[in-house]
Formats: sequence, structure tokens, C-alpha cells
Amino acid sequence: MSLRRRTLLKVIVLGDSGVGKTSLMNQYVHKKFSQQYKATIGADFVTKELQIDDRLVTLQIWDTAGQERFQSLGVAFYRGADCCVLVYDVNVLRSFDTLDNWHEEFLKQANPPDPKTFPFILLGNKIDIDGGNSRVVSEKKARDWCASKGNIPYYETSAKEDYNVDAAFLCIAKSALANEHEQDIYFQGIPEAVSETEQRGGCAC
Ligand code: GDP
Ligand code: MG
Repeated sequence: MSLRRRTLLKVIVLGDSGVGKTSLMNQYVHKKFSQQYKATIGADFVTKELQIDDRLVTLQIWDTAGQERFQSLGVAFYRGADCCVLVYDVNVLRSFDTLDNWHEEFLKQANPPDPKTFPFILLGNKIDIDGGNSRVVSEKKARDWCASKGNIPYYETSAKEDYNVDAAFLCIAKSALANEHEQDIYFQGIPEAVSETEQRGGCAC
């Protein structure tokens, strides 16, 4: 039996308009950053292949088409997600305050089988701006929020400077993979095979 099977993982990226969702994805997948603001056209995904231990993984990363500003994202966007990435801008308080809504909206729309263990990840983006002087949300405040939601992993990132982007997406991939594994086992009806380390509770990265 070959252990090298390819796994497709759906990751969706949520957060207020302008926080850098599209930029983070572009930096991760294409190693590019653009200062220009372009509203994303057409709900879309990009893919990235990576190897995690002996697994070949295809991350399918879904970006919003800018509709987060004025309308709901539609059921196809949320359907079958294996991990939800929440993004805020550390320089914009409102983008942090709306995280509760995004978190809630995801659970409502995606309706995962076990909402308490579904993998979320929080990214505090744009930490490069003004050398951190215009920052309004502290790391502690963000980590407290993550703790209150069941220990969501947290990364501070800069899509512009390519800071922590790879690390964050590796954690995202590992979390999604751990969750997918749990579901496989769950559907086979042998839950006792789920080991401690495969349960969610932060990834090993
Ligand atoms: P989205 O609406 O969440 O997809 O946000 P975008 O990725 O379109 O980014 C909005 C604006 O913020 C663009 O002008 C980006 O160039 C800029 N931006 C995104 N990430 C960063 C970052 O890490 N640092 C800085 N300085 N600007 C960023
Ligand atoms: Mg966008």
C-alpha cells in the first residue's frame, strides 16, 4: 500500500476588506506583492502543492471576490472547508472587532460537524507599517481572543515583507490535514484510532 496519496484541502480566507487577504495569498503562492489596491474579481481559488511528512497535499485556497464588503459570500464558498483563516489588520481596530462576526458567520454557513474542534487560524497582518508605531491591537489582545475561541493558533504577518507567511500557511495546512484525517476516521467509524496528536489543539509548527 502506498502512503503517497494526494490530499486536497480546502482553505478559506475571511476578514474585513482591505486587511490583506489577497496579498497574503499572492505572497504565499506567487511570491509577489502589489501596493496597488485591486478589488479581487470573481470568487476564486489558487492552489499550492506541498509535502507534509509523507503526504502530498494540495492546498486549495479560496479568496473572496471583494463581496465581503457588501454581501454574503454564498454557500459554495464555505462548503467543505477544511480550515478557516481569519485575517485582521493590526493597525485597524475595527478589523479586529469584526473577527467575532466572521468566526460566527463561518460556523453558521459551513456548519462543520464539530464546531468546537474545527481548525481556525488567526493572522494579524501589516505588522510592517510604520515600524509598528501605528499598531492599535496588541499581540496580547489578539492572543487572548484566540484563547477565548479554544486556542486558535496566531501568527503576525506581513504580506509586503513576506514575514511569517510561509510559517502561517504551513500551520494552516497541518491543521487542515489533521482535521481531514479525523473526518476520514470518523466516517470509517473507528474513532478510537484517533490519537492525541491528531486531535486539534494547535499544530506542531
Ligand atoms: P483584501 O481586501 O483583504 O484582499 O486586501 P488586499 O490584499 O487587497 O490588500 C489591501 C491593501 O493593503 C493593498 O493596497 C495591499 O497592497 C496592502 N497590504 C496588504 N498586505 C499588506 C502588508 O502586509 N503590509 C502593507 N504595508 N500593506 C499591505
Ligand atoms: Mg481581496
